[in-house]
Amino acid sequence: MIYGLRDLMPGSEHEVKVISRRFDLPNSASIDTYLANEGYQAFLKARKMTQDEIIEEVKKSGLRGRGGAGFSTGMKWSFVPKNIQKPRYIVCNADESEPGTCKDRLLMQFDPHEIIEGMMIAGLAIDAHKGFIYIRGEYRFLIEIVEKAIDEAYARGWLGKNIQGTGFDFDCVAHSGAGAYECGEESALLESLEGKRGIPRIRPPFPAVAGLYQSPTILNNVETFATVPAIILKGGDWYHALGTPKNGGTKLTNISGHVKRPGCYELPLGISLRKAIYEVAGGMEGDKKIKAIIPGGSSTPMLVPDQLDTPMDFDSMAKQGTFLGSGGLVVMNEDTCMVEVALRVMRFYSHESCGWCIPCREGTTWLKKMLTRFHAGGGEERDINLINELAQAMLGRTFCPLGDAAAMPMISAVKHFRADFEAHLNGNKCPYEGRQ
Ligand code: SF4
Repeated sequence: MIYGLRDLMPGSEHEVKVISRRFDLPNSASIDTYLANEGYQAFLKARKMTQDEIIEEVKKSGLRGRGGAGFSTGMKWSFVPKNIQKPRYIVCNADESEPGTCKDRLLMQFDPHEIIEGMMIAGLAIDAHKGFIYIRGEYRFLIEIVEKAIDEAYARGWLGKNIQGTGFDFDCVAHSGAGAYECGEESALLESLEGKRGIPRIRPPFPAVAGLYQSPTILNNVETFATVPAIILKGGDWYHALGTPKNGGTKLTNISGHVKRPGCYELPLGISLRKAIYEVAGGMEGDKKIKAIIPGGSSTPMLVPDQLDTPMDFDSMAKQGTFLGSGGLVVMNEDTCMVEVALRVMRFYSHESCGWCIPCREGTTWLKKMLTRFHAGGGEERDINLINELAQAMLGRTFCPLGDAAAMPMISAVKHFRADFEAHLNGNKCPYEGRQ
């Protein structure tokens, strides 16, 4: 089933629409709509700027990678070496698969030209002439939309040779992944794009120096590229001012779980969790109490109700020991069994572990086994500490962040919700069964 805009974005007065501003227009994905609404104007403006000026404008905007890492986009672009005699590439990470996150799909579905234009501007910034959009395999219908947008851009002279007589060439290709979560990790994505098994590379060197085909590569998330045209058109300072001092701009935020109005909202960075849950998403279903919040997709440590006044930005979340991540906020009510939540999360990571390194491959498998037994009433008191110790032993000891992503929610589950684990001891069945 293909959902419409209102199913996915219910709307809120707290939204500040920058990258989603065209979503409501009829045929928003078409090139005609795009061209009639500022489309490709940022590219023409950027063509008159020097490479350094483009990068400076992006730095000024405070834009930080919207895929989860939150690294400065302008800084990343500036790492590409200038005097290297190799082709350069632009790669868009559209392998969106973080549980709780489904925001890049909206950009691909409702405004794919915005992504293409952002990639073209990145191409201008580092003198790259070829771009790849690596799309999650399960997003079959989106691949067709993105490919159609690419075809339209070629047909109308916005891709290909000598774009609109500017003397700049840029080709773009959509590439389908095969459904591996691990390929959302940038170096595994590059391996997969090269036709190899999608496992991470040992770094350094980083993609800016040796990325696709060992050539300098800018690799950014869909939302990051989609934001670039607005920054070039309206200026880095304008974009920066929409957020907080070190966290410029807006963020597409998915709010799901036990809220009244789940959906995706474009919110200014720095809005509090409380406001996002109670005013944007309408509060809790049945007016129940909040028990736990996953702030940025399943890989981020959970928060509890007394942290509700935390601003949703990269730095404030870090101060609370968690991450803004991909912006996938999952809100759980008082009737949620946190042992079951931990089990579901671990089933996912155990399934998605690529198996390359032992702490992740074995750790996720054992944690899943223990949590399955525990949730079924076969847990022992010592298992609670063992779950925590096993997760702690995985932290920082894996080749890629998936190991940490699996471990951190387990550690926070035991820390904040030990009572839920204890309630399953002595053969007791889950005390929350039937309460949702
Ligand atoms: Fe693979 Fe997990 Fe190791 Fe990452 S941490 S390389 S997913 S086994």
